[in-house]
Amino acid sequence: MITVTTIAELRVLLDAHRGNGHSVGFVPTMGYLHDGHASLMRAARVENDVVVTSIFVNPLQFAEDEDLSDYPRDLERDLQVCDEAGADVIFAPTADEMYSRPMSTVVEVPEMAKRWEGASRPTHFAGVATVVAKLFSIVGTCSAYFGEKDFQQLRIITTMVEDLSFPIRVVGCPIRREDDGLAMSSRNIYLEGDQRAAATVLNRALRAAIGAFHNGETDGAVLSQLMASEVTAEPLAALDYAAVVRSDDLTTARTVDDTNRLIIAADVGATRLIDNMGLGSTTPL
Ligand code: AMP
Repeated sequence: MITVTTIAELRVLLDAHRGNGHSVGFVPTMGYLHDGHASLMRAARVENDVVVTSIFVNPLQFAEDEDLSDYPRDLERDLQVCDEAGADVIFAPTADEMYSRPMSTVVEVPEMAKRWEGASRPTHFAGVATVVAKLFSIVGTCSAYFGEKDFQQLRIITTMVEDLSFPIRVVGCPIRREDDGLAMSSRNIYLEGDQRAAATVLNRALRAAIGAFHNGETDGAVLSQLMASEVTAEPLAALDYAAVVRSDDLTTARTVDDTNRLIIAADVGATRLIDNMGLGSTTPL
């Protein structure tokens, strides 16, 4: 495994691989890696000759009042996770390498980005789409692996790739969870004391709604309310949204079917947590 820190070096390396007929799998991350990230690398490993993982905490996607300076970082441990998951190349640029001057270009998918996460974090998805577009331009033709954990992000990236004809195949990968159902996240480290147990309320709410759907409930508003009441019953959690959406455009689904997605976001203490599940899930945990 090798670590590359400059855009020019990565381009030369990956162009040489593609010139030799090698396929490239790419896993963009912000580091502080856990098994969710590793699962993306393992999926990329199975399908490609070369696996590239980027580790870059992207300032563009953090609002002024968010946790950019506190965002957890541990490059040494990350390199070990990447090695064990089978990555070949780590791209770990500095912020100066990625943004040598303030960006004048912004990539936006506004219709999809304005709802759900975007309602609470209005500049977030423009920051994500812009850095991912830049990373795609640097990495070049590849398959790119994203977690369903960030379902809205996955849909936005897929739409951006289709709209702009990037030579990228976007692959969505299932959510990795802790044994008690909490979706793995770099931010889970912020959960203190009782907050860690309280954080499982998102998973419990999603499973309650899936259970109701399997028992015949097809009214999206009823399922959303059921999720909301689960979260409200947890004193350490504050609900942001709970909804059933169409998986393609993320609009609210009124009468639901198994193609729809349950999405939920809540604050536990100062930590914002998100989760989601397909209504067609048979093993909800
Ligand atoms: P991040 O480092 O948070 O930007 O995440 C990098 C990638 O890992 C994104 O595609 C995330 O959706 C994905 N990811 C994060 N957590 C999980 C998880 N629990 N299961 C699967 N993928 C995940």
